[in-house]
Amino acid sequence: AQERYSSIREAECVSADGQRIHLMMNAGLMADLPSLTSSGAEGVGLFRTELQFLVRNKMPKRTELAEIYARVLDAAGGKRVIFRTLDIGSDKVLPYMKPTEEPNPALGWRAIRVALDRPGVMRMQLQALIRAANGRPLTLMFPFIAQYEEFTHARAELEKVMAREQKLGHSVPERVQVGTMLETPSLAYAPQRFFDEVEFVSIGGNDLKQFFFAADRENERVRRRYDTLNQSFLSFLRLIVERCETSNTPLSFCGEDAGRPVEALCLAAMGIRTLSMRPASIGPVKSLLMRYRLSEIRDVIEDAFARGEQSVRGPVMDYLRDNS
Ligand code: PEP
Ligand code: MG
Repeated sequence: AQERYSSIREAECVSADGQRIHLMMNAGLMADLPSLTSSGAEGVGLFRTELQFLVRNKMPKRTELAEIYARVLDAAGGKRVIFRTLDIGSDKVLPYMKPTEEPNPALGWRAIRVALDRPGVMRMQLQALIRAANGRPLTLMFPFIAQYEEFTHARAELEKVMAREQKLGHSVPERVQVGTMLETPSLAYAPQRFFDEVEFVSIGGNDLKQFFFAADRENERVRRRYDTLNQSFLSFLRLIVERCETSNTPLSFCGEDAGRPVEALCLAAMGIRTLSMRPASIGPVKSLLMRYRLSEIRDVIEDAFARGEQSVRGPVMDYLRDNS
């Protein structure tokens, strides 16, 4: 399938009305690295660091992790890599950590909540990331931030680790960019200072949609019940876009929907201009995005909203069919 799109692999993704959209890839394992060149990705928009923890039967050592992260940065050759700190709990259970029995794991002690309560593992991971960067620029993203204070606490942890590394004589990156995932509706309503201080925001559509519709992403019975192109959800995304635009905060989307061409087109039309997806989706998404005018897709979406359509999928599909 990647061959089918090889003619546009090196092309910048620009819509028919001249809007530039950045296409990045999601990764997490060493096996993903060759895709950085074969897919035409502009970088890694989401590196799921927990995968390295999940494929082992004991806690990885700092030196091991540093080696892995260094190889990722080497493979990227200067392209941006967004390392997301450990996102465990809920569906991602580490076999070597005592499981906590929770009635609702998706709403439970997971991701940054674990990291802030028991900071040992995240500190070790941050050290490994800093050592792997070895002076190169580093981009970090915290998962599952639900309120401003969780962001400031996580950032303070990072600053502590940086100071300690410097004291130990390790070179720390001149520039560490710090962003967060937006996966809980609450964060969209965070105080203005959150959007002013955070350096970028990436919408985790898988979790965000789960919490927005109260529909378990693991439950086959309900997970496809609500369309991502539902008017309510798109209106909510529009609010996030507006908040980020007001504070000039770069915004991306890294859930699975970013890799579905029609969804990607609508996300771009709503103003989300960086999409991160599985590598195999980059060709099909780019191909569709380059064929259409985002302003017209936006009009189709707004018209469907105005008519009170529950989902804009039908109207958008009709438009694509009539204008192919
Ligand atoms: C998401 O929630 O959309 C996301 C990208 O993170 P994960 O799928 O790893 O939870
Ligand atoms: Mg998530």
